[in-house]
Amino acid sequence: MPLSKICLHWSAGASYPCEVDLKAYHFLVDKDGKVYQGLFKPEDNLICKPNKYAMHCGGGNTGCIGLSALGMAGFDLKDKKTEYPLTKIQVEAFCKLAAELCIKYGIKVSPETVFTHYEFGQKHPKTRSYGKIDFTYLPFLPNLEKDRIGDLLRNKISWYIIQIKKGE
Ligand SMILES: [Zn+2]
Repeated sequence: MPLSKICLHWSAGASYPCEVDLKAYHFLVDKDGKVYQGLFKPEDNLICKPNKYAMHCGGGNTGCIGLSALGMAGFDLKDKKTEYPLTKIQVEAFCKLAAELCIKYGIKVSPETVFTHYEFGQKHPKTRSYGKIDFTYLPFLPNLEKDRIGDLLRNKISWYIIQIKKGE
């Protein structure tokens, strides 16, 4: 089974990565749009051996690349407040990174292959991913409904794929 999926997360932590963040995801993007490589490579999630892969998406880690936008600590859907809001620059860099990975691994963008952690949990209610709230809110688009954020991110990723291919 190849790497066939990408799960889009926010870290629910601070705006810059800590050890725990680096262990949980393959790639991370800080509030300034800088990309970090996690401790594990996407290939480590082909066969998930205990403590040797990025545990980012409970019930769906095998063959799945984990990307995380750093931030949103303390956020909940009721108050919608956090000291570490995601930024526009960050989400653009995050979608560009996802586009590069889609090209590298031959992943076509669809809700089945590129999804938010929230979407995965909604589709798989018996997994530990159920009830995850990343992404259910974009601080710079506060009126965007939570069930439309996955599509917004996929549209951005598709746009970046076209731009990258044009530039080749
Ligand atoms: Zn997540």
